[in-house]
Amino acid sequence: MSLELLPGHAALPLPAQRIFCNRTLNLRSIQAIGFDMDYTLVHYHQDQWEGRAYQHCKERLLAKGYPVAHLEFDPELGMLGLILDTENGNLVKANRFGYVKRACHGTRLMEFEAMRKAYDGTVVDLADKRWVFVNTLFGLSESCMYMQLVDLFDEKKLEGVMGYTKVYDLVRQHLDAAHMEGALKAEIMADPDRFVDLDPDLVPALMDLKHAGKKLVVITNSEWFYTKAMMSYCFDRYLGGEGWRSLFHLVIVSARKPAFFSERMPAFEVIDDDGRLVPAPGRLELGKSYLGANARLVEQSLGIPGEDILYVGDHIFADVNASKSLHRWRTGLIVRELERELNALEAFKPTQAELSRLMAQKEEMEHRYSLLRLLAQRLEHGYGERPEGIEVPRVRAEMRELRSELVSLDERITPLAKASGELNHARWGLLLRTGNDKSHLARQIEKHADVYMSRVSNLLHSTPFVYMRSPRGSLPHDSGPEGGV
Ligand code: IMP
Ligand code: MG
Repeated sequence: MSLELLPGHAALPLPAQRIFCNRTLNLRSIQAIGFDMDYTLVHYHQDQWEGRAYQHCKERLLAKGYPVAHLEFDPELGMLGLILDTENGNLVKANRFGYVKRACHGTRLMEFEAMRKAYDGTVVDLADKRWVFVNTLFGLSESCMYMQLVDLFDEKKLEGVMGYTKVYDLVRQHLDAAHMEGALKAEIMADPDRFVDLDPDLVPALMDLKHAGKKLVVITNSEWFYTKAMMSYCFDRYLGGEGWRSLFHLVIVSARKPAFFSERMPAFEVIDDDGRLVPAPGRLELGKSYLGANARLVEQSLGIPGEDILYVGDHIFADVNASKSLHRWRTGLIVRELERELNALEAFKPTQAELSRLMAQKEEMEHRYSLLRLLAQRLEHGYGERPEGIEVPRVRAEMRELRSELVSLDERITPLAKASGELNHARWGLLLRTGNDKSHLARQIEKHADVYMSRVSNLLHSTPFVYMRSPRGSLPHDSGPEGGV
């Protein structure tokens, strides 16, 4: 019956519009939702935004005399969830255990043997500052510049720079300066059409949540001027005369996450559009904007305990890991790249089915080969269970035949496996998988994000009343006979 009232909406959302759940989350019991701004509420055309960040960094390096004039930003050189090995000048993709499975030295892909040699016995440990995780799309300009500078370093063109770690420091220092100093952001604010990727479903999604009784809070590391400009640009057009401030109960800028979650930083009220500040020693008041502040103050001011607050952001460490581990806030990670990944997987389904079928066949043949080999061994040594009247040469002939069948099966598997490895990204493959296993990024998401989704507006499709249940989870023995040997 209700289907008549819900034309076009009754079916479950499409894969790219879904919210994926690691840990069961009942949205009905969430009383407040905090949102990060950059690459969360406000999405950017990353090749444009990161292209400009890269350019500003490059100009600073040029001004210091480094020979980088010919370098260009390549948005496809890196990917979210990869890891910089700052000791060796490499960019790597690791699996969930931290084993390196693909690597570039500078901009060049490493051959399998060289990679194996370099990382034999090494486990990526993100607590060690040798490894720098590409936590957000802001990391694309950084990793691209680092890999290109590693090439220059190897060509002995970076005078005075001693080693790959120093090359990294150089990039960090100049990119940091580009973000902090006003010129880059002024450029974005002057031409938001070029940089911002609008999402018309976002305002309805936030309205639904607000009218369902949730307190909505912006918590961004961006400065007041930039926040005001970006939020106005993205939201005001959909809100009549009311403006973006009307959507949110609290706005917190220059939040300094992750310190926002671990320290008790003081709050300042932003008292006018020009960003004038006055100290705000007491509670945060609904309807106002603040600079600084901290997570404990937000909980106290809203009168809501951490487990009833959901924080949604795109930075695995500063947004979801810190809020969850230090304050027990519930966490949602935004991974816009998931859309590309899910579309690639959807298109690959028939090929994947064929690949899985051939792999099952291969496994069965390999087992048969092992049994024949064992039989030959027993016949040769005259022990154990062995059929009457069978001679070793016959077994060996059978083995040769099976081996050649395996070789031709492999010839069919190889191109499909190669295509599978190049899904989503020609060099780095899928975000969330490394071969058949989970990627390091997938492991980080599983550990720190209760739920993840490609965009905030996916909340529109699932409604503010959704009960998100984590799937039962798959273990090798769940998949039946093909899950074990
Ligand atoms: P949020 O995602 O809304 O919390 O804001 C992210 C802010 O961090 C933006 O203002 C970025 O310009 C800034 N940001 C991102 N990467 C860097 C960096 O490498 N150094 C300094 N600031 C950064
Ligand atoms: Mg962000």
